[in-house]
Amino acid sequence: MNQLSQNTLGHFLEGKRVPGRSRRTGEVFDPATGSVTARLALADADEVRAAVESARKAQPGWAAQNPQRRARVMMRFVEFVNRDMDRLAETLSREHGKTLPDSRGEIQRGLEVAEFMAGLPHLLKGEFTEGAGPGIDMYSLRQPVGVGVGITPFNFPAMIPLWMMPPAVACGNAFILKPSERDPSVPLRLAELMLEAGLPPGIFQVLNGDRETVRALLDDPGIDAISFVGSTPVAREIYARAAASGKRVQSFGGAKNHLVVMPDADIAVAADALMGAAYGSAGERCMAISVAVPVGEATADRLRHALVERIERLKVGPFFAEDVDMGPVVTREAHTRITGLIARGVEEGADLAIDGRTLSLQGYESGFFLGPTLFDRVTREMDVYRTEIFGPVLSMVRAKTYEEALSLAAGHEYGNGVSIFTRDGGVARDFVSRVPIGMVGVNVPIPVPLAYYGFGGWKASAFGDLNQHGPDSIRFWTRTKTVATRWPSARSGPDFSMPTAR
Ligand code: NAD
Repeated sequence: MNQLSQNTLGHFLEGKRVPGRSRRTGEVFDPATGSVTARLALADADEVRAAVESARKAQPGWAAQNPQRRARVMMRFVEFVNRDMDRLAETLSREHGKTLPDSRGEIQRGLEVAEFMAGLPHLLKGEFTEGAGPGIDMYSLRQPVGVGVGITPFNFPAMIPLWMMPPAVACGNAFILKPSERDPSVPLRLAELMLEAGLPPGIFQVLNGDRETVRALLDDPGIDAISFVGSTPVAREIYARAAASGKRVQSFGGAKNHLVVMPDADIAVAADALMGAAYGSAGERCMAISVAVPVGEATADRLRHALVERIERLKVGPFFAEDVDMGPVVTREAHTRITGLIARGVEEGADLAIDGRTLSLQGYESGFFLGPTLFDRVTREMDVYRTEIFGPVLSMVRAKTYEEALSLAAGHEYGNGVSIFTRDGGVARDFVSRVPIGMVGVNVPIPVPLAYYGFGGWKASAFGDLNQHGPDSIRFWTRTKTVATRWPSARSGPDFSMPTAR
């Protein structure tokens, strides 16, 4: 067994933190300083097998507890997370780099899913038909799937695990989380808080790891369902591999979200909205707006002017500095990839209105900081338009007409979110109806559905047919069983014809 040093983060298995047993480790960084803050154990196939075995052992006992009791655990969990909010937010910001209000906001949005689970007994109710046939009643039940796995991205290390874990666990499943290797501390802490809230050991486990760990999870026959959120190439692969081994799977991918600005829109309102939507969390949100589509040259000129003015006032810095709007990007590799894409945009002929590559923060030269970047006159053939940049880069694509703006959003490979800013209700209604995208905002820049609605994109942004949270989460984390009963059992002799309700 490999003895790991004290600042190595391990796993949370069977109700306690345990060191990793494999010899494989990764590094966790503080993106503001670029320094390594911890090493992370990366689970191997043996550790995966052990976690699945303990989940399978614990699950039936948990599923046998009544739904009200399971919901109460979730209510206590909400209380404990709120109690520890400041500490959790600081831990999150230190590993991710986002500002403290942003970290608090994402934890809050995740908690709302746990709050939604307070209504579990109602959500789990089946259907009942009295007298479906002579003396026959028919009903449906929802039973847990068994053991589920969540594989989550770096950009929301609290919220996305909380999209999955509360419904999975409340529905009576055991759940193993494989968080992003970039920011694993908050997920580990969430598992401790669930234990404190009364969850039996083995029902929510956290197994840290990388793609090797994920592959072992996908192939393990003891796992019944996989929920994935991350980039599209990985989402596609996970969907195919998990489905091939007969697992239930939902797999969410990347995005390139457009915001259409109509000539009648209030430009100041649209520009304010774009600032937060494009540069909040350094653009590392799957619902970030990365393409602004002003309709008409005059709208475009006014929008560009309003954006440039605001970008010049935007404050970049480490999460603990005062009044910071935007932190660093997550890793050095992300920084290199994004600056490379900015260079590519220039090569392709896009007009670089503001170049974030020139930013330098005194005292943080080794951090992964990048300034807000604005491209104008981007076209649909360019790589900077087609690729998900996932950084603080906003591209303006000038459209001549509303139809052209609509066709841009409709024609893009991704279909996560989209928004339109206008004062014309008729145009807004037409847009909502015709745009082939999963989440739509009207004068709302980031239309993230609340916990009691489903979250999910279309096209290359999602594979599988059930959304995260909302009523779909109950459908995903349970199996339906339909029962026909006859009391008393009638003696009518054998009947070889097809039973009907006539
Ligand atoms: P990522 O795809 O690199 O990683 C996501 C998870 O998959 C991590 O846990 C990682 O360890 C694992 N992983 C990475 N490569 C793998 C491989 N080859 N095989 C198996 N597992 C692998 O994503 P990321 O960089 O952490 O997150 C950013 C991406 O997530 C962006 O594309 C963003 O749009 C997307 N995202 C989508 C949503 C959504 O709801 N659609 C929400 C948040 C983020």
